[in-house]
Amino acid sequence: MPYISLNPATNKTLKTYTSWDSHHLASILEQAYNAQQRSLHTTFAERAEHMNRAAMLLHERVNEYAGLMAVEMGKPLREGRAEVEKCALACDYYAVHAEHFMQAEIVRTDAGKSYVSYDPIGVVLGVMPWNFPFFQVIRFAAPALMAGNACVLKHASNVPQCALALEQLFLDAGFSPHLFAALMIESADVAEVVASHYVHAVTLTGSEAAGRAVASHAGQHLKKCVLELGGSDAFIILKDADLEQAASIAVRSRFQNCGQSCIAAKRIIPVAEIADEFLSLFIKKTEDLRMGDPLDEATQMGPMARLDLRQALHEQVTDSIAQGAHAVLGCEPISGEGAFYPPSILEGVTAKTRAYHEELFGPVAAVIRAADEEEAVHIANDTRFGLGSSVWSRDTEYAEKIARQIQAGCTFINGMVRSDPRLPFGGTKASGFGRELSYHGIREFANIKTVWIR
Ligand code: NDP
Repeated sequence: MPYISLNPATNKTLKTYTSWDSHHLASILEQAYNAQQRSLHTTFAERAEHMNRAAMLLHERVNEYAGLMAVEMGKPLREGRAEVEKCALACDYYAVHAEHFMQAEIVRTDAGKSYVSYDPIGVVLGVMPWNFPFFQVIRFAAPALMAGNACVLKHASNVPQCALALEQLFLDAGFSPHLFAALMIESADVAEVVASHYVHAVTLTGSEAAGRAVASHAGQHLKKCVLELGGSDAFIILKDADLEQAASIAVRSRFQNCGQSCIAAKRIIPVAEIADEFLSLFIKKTEDLRMGDPLDEATQMGPMARLDLRQALHEQVTDSIAQGAHAVLGCEPISGEGAFYPPSILEGVTAKTRAYHEELFGPVAAVIRAADEEEAVHIANDTRFGLGSSVWSRDTEYAEKIARQIQAGCTFINGMVRSDPRLPFGGTKASGFGRELSYHGIREFANIKTVWIR
């Protein structure tokens, strides 16, 4: 029984689900393919009507879905509601823009007429994580469905109720049965799905290890693959930054979702001149965070999503301390029920510590002091990852110059790294490849077809 819905605040099991056998899986994949073939006959307007309805249902069910996330993976209600609203925004965005993004482009050549058309690719498998259990799925499914594809979802095994709620959402919105299907399978079965001739592409959001495994299956079967993996984003504070604002956003970026976000500000890099002043603000604002029951409206930070994730994080912290870093705040698990870990700050993080090189997927900020801007950029790039980054300075022109030197999928200047349906999202280096969102995202799962007419 791999699908166990368990409340990480109490460690109480909520529900269990039996995983499917191979025969049932094959039959669902075939039905997804058939549904996709039928959807080729639908217009963008018809799909948009369903997608708009999905957005409307997300608004209507905002409390229900936020409640599900709270009990399955510990997200505080107010963050859950914001996530659901963001899903609605993405659905609306693709309902409005998909037709334009997928419109054929005339190209002048020696032909009487030649053009590029963007055709649906077929059935897209999404292997998705638990940290944003609604948004990560909508981010791939809304463009994929609007493009005329079908989606099969292998969701993380700790959020089965969210997976089933999403399947029901698309059904209630009017999409045909099986056009979006939640597969109740284990990660070991993903290889079988990728291999299926009913499946044409795969997108994964999750750890580097899962990304490598799925990319190798995709390579073996020559299927298109998009990977959105981990990150260890640099948050660089230059000497002329608005320190008050930078500290507030650093706290939000690092501790939102209990620090379990791929684009969290994981490495806080202040330059020497302002490091002490920035740190005292950062510590003070971190101390103000209210941790507690995710179902309590006043809670700003809930538990981590699973006990094993908390243990892995704490091992990184204790090893880093043994390697020379020191705890300024927190850095000890909270005893008792639940996977609670306090908002924590590690200072004195250097290249000799795990916290410098590894992704800390939980509420621990790694502070790495830089002598000057040049060293800050060096530290920012001295990582296997390349997802997001941010630079703080009142001189935005100078900050832009710094931004161009950072190896990452995005750099935000004087702002928190976040995804926006209008902008492409994705990484470089070990953070993956391919892009989600904007027109780049919808075209990842299109057959870019040349048509040439004499
Ligand atoms: P995983 O990467 O293991 O899980 C993400 C998804 O991939 C889940 O659906 C999982 O299924 C599936 N999966 C895992 N291994 C394989 C595999 N070999 N083949 C096919 N599918 C696979 O994340 P974890 O939950 O274990 O978290 C561990 C670490 O991953 C975190 O500490 C963090 O560093 C990173 N992570 C990054 C995320 C991001 O947003 N970039 C999101 C979540 C995690 P199942 O649940 O059944 O194992």
